[in-house]
Amino acid sequence: MHEVIDCDECDGLGFRVRRCFCVQGGDQLVVDGGRYADQVYVGCRVCGGDGSVAEPCARCGRAGRRRAQLVVTVVNLDTGAAASRRLLPGRLDPPAEPDTITRARDIVTGLAGAVGVRGLSPHWGQRALGDEVYWLPRRWRAHLPAQERLALEAEALAQQEYDPWRVYVGRGTEAPPSPEPGRELARLCEQADLLYLDLVVEARRRYGEVVWTIRYEVPGGRVPLDPHARAQDLPSAIAATTFREAMRGLDDRGRDAPAYTVRPVRTAAAIPSSMDLGRLDRAVLADLADDAPGAQAVWRDGRWWHTPLRSAGSVEELHERETGQIVRYVRQMVRRAAEPPDPAWWGEPVEHRPCPDCRPGTRLRRCHCRVGAPGPDPQCSRCSGAGFAPSGLACFTCRDGGRIPAALTVTVTDGRRVSHETWRPVPGEPAPVVGYQPNGTPVHQLRPHWRLARHAAVFGVRPTDLTHLDEDQPVDQDLLDATVTVHDPAVEPARQHVERIGAGLPGARLFVLAAAPDAPPLTDLLRLAYALDLAVVVTYRDHRLDAGDPTKVQGERWDIRLTARDARIGAEFPFCASVELAVARCVEYLDMHLLAAVPREPDRPVPAPQAAPSPPVAEPTGLLRRVGRHYAGQPVVASFDRAGCRLWLAERGEVQPLARAATLDDAVSALRLSGS
Ligand SMILES: [Zn+2]
Ligand SMILES: [Zn+2]
Ligand SMILES: [Zn+2]
Ligand SMILES: [Zn+2]
Repeated sequence: MHEVIDCDECDGLGFRVRRCFCVQGGDQLVVDGGRYADQVYVGCRVCGGDGSVAEPCARCGRAGRRRAQLVVTVVNLDTGAAASRRLLPGRLDPPAEPDTITRARDIVTGLAGAVGVRGLSPHWGQRALGDEVYWLPRRWRAHLPAQERLALEAEALAQQEYDPWRVYVGRGTEAPPSPEPGRELARLCEQADLLYLDLVVEARRRYGEVVWTIRYEVPGGRVPLDPHARAQDLPSAIAATTFREAMRGLDDRGRDAPAYTVRPVRTAAAIPSSMDLGRLDRAVLADLADDAPGAQAVWRDGRWWHTPLRSAGSVEELHERETGQIVRYVRQMVRRAAEPPDPAWWGEPVEHRPCPDCRPGTRLRRCHCRVGAPGPDPQCSRCSGAGFAPSGLACFTCRDGGRIPAALTVTVTDGRRVSHETWRPVPGEPAPVVGYQPNGTPVHQLRPHWRLARHAAVFGVRPTDLTHLDEDQPVDQDLLDATVTVHDPAVEPARQHVERIGAGLPGARLFVLAAAPDAPPLTDLLRLAYALDLAVVVTYRDHRLDAGDPTKVQGERWDIRLTARDARIGAEFPFCASVELAVARCVEYLDMHLLAAVPREPDRPVPAPQAAPSPPVAEPTGLLRRVGRHYAGQPVVASFDRAGCRLWLAERGEVQPLARAATLDDAVSALRLSGS
């Protein structure tokens, strides 16, 4: 029996005794991050100065045993067919030579042929054909004694048990070819011109290698300390960088960038349809000569500007360790040797005031005792009435930017069209009270030109399709409807609105994407679940009873997850404002849903579903909305699997069964809702 083996980390005990982390820094309070002292810290909060700690084994999750079993599954979304291969000791393909990695491609190809998959669907989970499946050690030989060979194979499989079920989702048609990198880069430049941002192509030296990154920046910000670069060359950096990827973290990078309004300008020349990568690559690498720590090409105002990076001294970073010690790291900073000329689109500087809720250069932040109170609590144990207390978190008001801008630029785009607006409060603007928070604080609504929701119609989408471009989060209701909870009656609502939104934005700029989520139909997800013999659990809540109340959720909310068929159904709070968004999230996190569907006990098998083609399934959202409308205000839960459909109603955190039938149609009929 080699399918489950004892955990080597804890010798099957489920817990282990290890050296405490405090020994790294040695017996002192402030320690150097790069040092290994091998000496116990006498005041250690974790081991009490003993030097060793007993803890549950993380490798086997306390089970003491590990599963030596993997399953690879391929599903054809067009037909609903699935094929799986269970990888067990003694049932592995002999590798071309020991020490070679078996990759997903080696196994997926055969399974894909069996179910008629000709191309994998991108974005269903994070899997790629190049992923490692297992790796037999050099000692492995086909002619070894069976016991020894099986033990090596079991160990190789157990190494991968953190990811025991690899599901690849595809279709009967070929996947579109990956785009040409020169063209992709030209597209990223085009977007930079559209949004009035810099596109930065950066090469940095790291451990004797050169690594590349591509990202958007608000002009004038600092060069990031750690750009998370991994790509070994320019083409692979482009391949690894989608538009969303290049936007991610823009607010962090632009924290110190100067704030200017946007003045629409035309860029001088048209962007070529494909960038000359060889030329760009040579120019950046030329700047890396003379041992520069890095070099950048910055796309601004329709052309590339080149500069080497120079060392700009070091910063000290202090982190508290759970042992009670303070760890000190010294990080090398870099700056651009030459700044490109100011962007042509810079209008006038945006005025700002310092953030009232933090002290620059310190860890002092507004104390909790001041939240929702007119002043600090003199008895407060954290601040003793000072109103400020040390905190490890970023300032809640300014996100550590330290500035509160007096105006902001709102940029809305669908990727092809764009709108730039300056939002600046005018004293004395009318803002009637439209509701009250539960504690009696009034909620005002600003005039229609402040309501972001109006952009939805211009771009042909729903207000719920407006999302923050740099963090992939939907825009909140206050921003959509320009509703403002006025905590301080001395500050006008419009100013409060601008300051709340603008604080912490990079260069006082808000970027909004107006596009429906890039999601397959819900029926594709149902088909996947039937093929894998799992359940799709959909939670729906109709908020129409709260319509018009600015303090309550408006519209509808959805939650969709994939679970094991026998998983317990709970009362989830649905957060997605559209069914498309809920499907997109479920598909994006598919690998995590699948992992949760694998039994935890190592001796229970990993699912290995096989499925013949099945007929298409009916689209359930219309019927679900009907049930939700009947039970407005309460989440309605529906589960779909091969056996049929079940309905529940969530009440006070529990789910109550409503109906069970072969189809949703039958289940809804059984409810005999009024009007049916
Ligand atoms: Zn310790
Ligand atoms: Zn263990
Ligand atoms: Zn306090
Ligand atoms: Zn602050």
